[in-house]
Amino acid sequence: MPDLESHLAPYASHASQSRGRLHAEPASTSRSEFQRDRDRVIHSTAFRRLEYKTQVFVNHEGDLFRTRLTHSLEVAQIARSIARQLRLNEDLVEAISLAHDLGHTPFGHAGQDALNACMKEHGGFEHNLQSLLVVDQLEERYGGFDGLNLTFETREGILKHCSRANAAALGPLGKRFLEGTQPSLEAQLANLADEIAYNNHDIDDGLRSGLLTLEQMQQVPMWERHRAEVEAAFPGIGGRRLINETVRRMINTLIVDLIDTTSRNIAEAGPRNVDEVREARPLVAFSEPIRQEAQTLKRFLFQHLYRHYLVMRMSAKAQRIISDLFAAFSDDPRLLPPQYQASVGGPDQARLIAHYIAGMTDRYAIREHRRMFAVGEQN
Ligand code: MG
Repeated sequence: MPDLESHLAPYASHASQSRGRLHAEPASTSRSEFQRDRDRVIHSTAFRRLEYKTQVFVNHEGDLFRTRLTHSLEVAQIARSIARQLRLNEDLVEAISLAHDLGHTPFGHAGQDALNACMKEHGGFEHNLQSLLVVDQLEERYGGFDGLNLTFETREGILKHCSRANAAALGPLGKRFLEGTQPSLEAQLANLADEIAYNNHDIDDGLRSGLLTLEQMQQVPMWERHRAEVEAAFPGIGGRRLINETVRRMINTLIVDLIDTTSRNIAEAGPRNVDEVREARPLVAFSEPIRQEAQTLKRFLFQHLYRHYLVMRMSAKAQRIISDLFAAFSDDPRLLPPQYQASVGGPDQARLIAHYIAGMTDRYAIREHRRMFAVGEQN
């Protein structure tokens, strides 16, 4: 196979030096190991389900809002542009970005909080760890093993945070949470690309839905700065074009700042390979003024969008659906599809119920709730 990696920086992750897969497989003749990982993610069942999972707005509330799928695509796009500039591994950062939300429950954060509360006595539920479980165990696509058998580097990137208790059980992958070391630059990058994507698309969706107003946005310095720039360049501009031009410029500012700051950090720390990256401080970062501006934006979104009473109503309904389902299945596991009924030597019943519920799309969960609780509804 031709050398696909000669353009990479020495501190990038090289597929040829991967720490490998849990189950050894022969090398591909046409793709690098990280390209294979990305392709496996795209062909997974969990990836297709992202289309029908809520980001902030419930799926059926409108066709133009982000879903987990379009969010993941935006993360991958942002992460790849930055990776190319920094000469990092685009295939790896794309694989991580596309997989990072695979473990999300239906109904966004409300769903995750509800399922976590249901699982309190049973080890809890964490969507990030669930994403790893999806690619390590839950996907059923191969004759020889469970899961997608991805490389260490993609799995390392998927697992953004982890409690010490869970980390201890994860072997080499959990080690960094116990030792306080960093993951690869590609993993660090996917994490911040996620932030760039959701902060900006949540403004866009918030304004589109009418839950946020342009007047309110004046409180956000980063927005104001870019809006003023747009109005100076296009006097009299308004409506969707004003919003889109402003959001576009904000994303650009964040990307350029991240590239500049990270390049500087890398030059200062001087890692010669990915092992030295893991030992260094976090190197992918925003400059301090931009980090603070982004923080203010986040706080604004939290207060005005994620805590908007209409979003809270949706969250309350979502939490009810999930806790009702969890309680009904726990009371009588015979109501579960057979593959989610506990068997000797397998995961405990509560964990299997969590897997079942976490895998649901928004509309599947709504339908399942109806099937379980509405008399006269077909089973
Ligand atoms: Mg995300």
